[in-house]
Amino acid sequence: MKFAVTSKGDAKSNSLMHKIKSYLLDFHLTYDDNEPDIVISVGGDGTLLYAFHRYTSRLDKTAFVGVHTGHLGFYADWVPEEIEKLVIAIAQTPYQVIEYPLLEAIVRYQHGGKETRYLALNESTVKSVEGSLVMDVDIRGQHFERFRGDGLCVSTPSGSTAYNKALGGAIIHPSIAAIQMAEMASINNRVFRTVGSPLILPAHHTCMLKPVNEPDFLITIDHLTLLHKDVKSIQYRVADEKIRFARFRPFPFWKRVHDSFISN
Ligand code: NAP
Repeated sequence: MKFAVTSKGDAKSNSLMHKIKSYLLDFHLTYDDNEPDIVISVGGDGTLLYAFHRYTSRLDKTAFVGVHTGHLGFYADWVPEEIEKLVIAIAQTPYQVIEYPLLEAIVRYQHGGKETRYLALNESTVKSVEGSLVMDVDIRGQHFERFRGDGLCVSTPSGSTAYNKALGGAIIHPSIAAIQMAEMASINNRVFRTVGSPLILPAHHTCMLKPVNEPDFLITIDHLTLLHKDVKSIQYRVADEKIRFARFRPFPFWKRVHDSFISN
């Protein structure tokens, strides 16, 4: 089996990365940075986001596992003290794989430029470069509302505990194939009106954002922020692809929610 190890880059994560690599080589696994069957991410949830984007072209062939060197994470749920146990479990394949839904974002441009497609593990947000964001929101091909405010956030179920949660969105169990759109400070008065509640869309529904005036936007895909000019539309839906996690022991999602946000 081929493996790769990624690190957050701090001294603790780097040292753990080298340890894991050397243990797995001792078990006669092959180190392959380009085509790994399993990727061990050492750091935090942010580190796993980077690892995910490094290997998006081979999601069907790669499984991820996260070790945290800081606080308990949603994607990084192994602690440094457990790495011997983890390494033995990895070496004794086959392991169980569980899949989580991803978000697909397609940005189309005015004047017929080539569209760009992204996959997000947590979320995509849209903000204007200057002033309020003004966007028409279509759901399933029907006009739903004209949004005015700071921005919009469209998240995956596993990303629902990240930015989405800070916006008052619901926490969604990752076994549900859905996306959630949450508002960032919408302007609501007698003239401007939005629904004001986060919306949860099933896998067969598409959400399309269309600029009203200004066509330039700051669009984030997880930790990446990109300036897109002359945008015609941004289309969101549940992606066909999924992220695969290698599971070696049960760690129920609601327990992770409890341990992260209530008490540990
Ligand atoms: P960062 O600003 O350095 O860290 C964002 C924080 O979010 C970190 O504590 C990270 O955990 C945590 N996190 C990431 N994914 C999570 C998840 N699925 N559930 C719960 N917590 C999660 O940024 P970054 O490390 O590059 O990560 C980018 C992410 O930051 C974005 O995808 C977005 O979700 C989040 N973000 C949140 C807010 C907000 O809450 N107001 C604002 C902007 C962006 P670790 O410490 O374990 O890495």
